[in-house]
Amino acid sequence: HAKNAGRNAFRLFRKGMNELIEKRRALEADLEIGLKRGEFELYLQPRVEVETADVIGYEALLRWSHPKRGMISPGDFIPVAEASGKIIQLGEWVLAEACRLLETIEGRISVNVSPLQFRHSEFVSNLTELLRRTGADPNRIELEITENVLIDDDKRALQILNDLKKIGFDIALDDFGTGYSSLSYLSRYPFDTIKIDRSFVSNIGKVENAQVIVRTIIDLGAGLGMNTVAEGVERIEEALFLAQAGCDELQGYLLGRPARASELARDIDPAIATRLRNMPRRLPEI
Ligand code: C2E
Ligand code: MG
Ligand code: MG
Ligand code: MG
Repeated sequence: HAKNAGRNAFRLFRKGMNELIEKRRALEADLEIGLKRGEFELYLQPRVEVETADVIGYEALLRWSHPKRGMISPGDFIPVAEASGKIIQLGEWVLAEACRLLETIEGRISVNVSPLQFRHSEFVSNLTELLRRTGADPNRIELEITENVLIDDDKRALQILNDLKKIGFDIALDDFGTGYSSLSYLSRYPFDTIKIDRSFVSNIGKVENAQVIVRTIIDLGAGLGMNTVAEGVERIEEALFLAQAGCDELQGYLLGRPARASELARDIDPAIATRLRNMPRRLPEI
C-alpha cells in the first residue's frame, strides 16, 4: 500500500542518512588522529612559465593516506574538515609544511586556503608567527582562495587580503569563472593571479566559443595587471592555444602530475618545452 511504501522509503532514507552521518563522524575523528600520526602529505604540482617553459613554482596539494581506506582525495575530506572546523588545524599543518618544503625546492609554492581558515580570527597572526618561526620568505608563497571565500562582508575579506599582501604574500583567485560573480570580485580585491578553471581549459578545441572565453579571461587578467594561470592542462592543443593566447603559466598533467617533493622532475618534457617556446604569442589586448 502507498502509505506503507512511503514509510519504508522513509526508513531506507533515514538509514542511508544515518550511515552517511556516521561515516562523516568517523572521518572527522580519523582526521585528528591522522594529523598526529603523520598520515598527511603535501604533493607538489609544477607551474610552468609559458615564455621560458621553465618550472617556476608548484602548487601544494594535500594527500591523506588513511590506514584503512587508502589514499583519500582532498575533494572527499576537505569538505568534512571544513564542516567540522578541523580545517583550521589541518590548514595550519599545510602552511607549516609548505614553509618547510620551500627550503628543499627552487621557486615558489602556492597553497590553497579554505573559507573557514581564511575567516578564522587568528589566520593572519598565525601566519606571521609561522614566518617568524620558520624564517620562510612570504614572497615565495602564493595563497589561493576561491571566490566563495568572499561572498559576504567583503570589508573584512578585503582587510585580510590587504594584510596578507602587506606581509608579502601573493594572492590567487582559484577556479576562476566557476562562481557567481567572478567579474565584480576582480576589480574589488587585490589579486595577483587568476587561475582559469579546468572546465574552460578542457573545452578548448572541443566546444564552440571555448577559445573566445579563454582568450577573454587572459585579456581581462592582463588588463588588470594580473598573472594568468591555466589549470588542468592535459592536451598539447590546449597548451599551444593558451601559449598563443598570451597565458602566463600552465599547470596540468601534460606538464607534470602532483608528486612528492622528493620525486619531482626538474623539467618538463623537452619536446613540449620546445613547442611552447616556439609558439608565436599574441599580445593580450589591454
Ligand atoms: P584546486 O586547488 O583547484 O587544485 C587543482 C586540482 O586539479 C588538484 O586536485 C589537482 O590534482 C588536479 N589537477 C591538476 N592537473 C590536472 C589535470 O591535468 N587534469 C585533471 N583532471 N586534474 C588535474 P586535488 O589534488 O584532488 O585537489 C582538489 C581540490 O582540493 C583542490 O582544487 C583544492 O580546492 C582542494 N585542496 C587540495 N589541497 C588542499 C589544501 O592543502 N588545503 C585546502 N584548503 N584545500 C586543498
Ligand atoms: Mg588551487
Ligand atoms: Mg609579493
Ligand atoms: Mg583550481
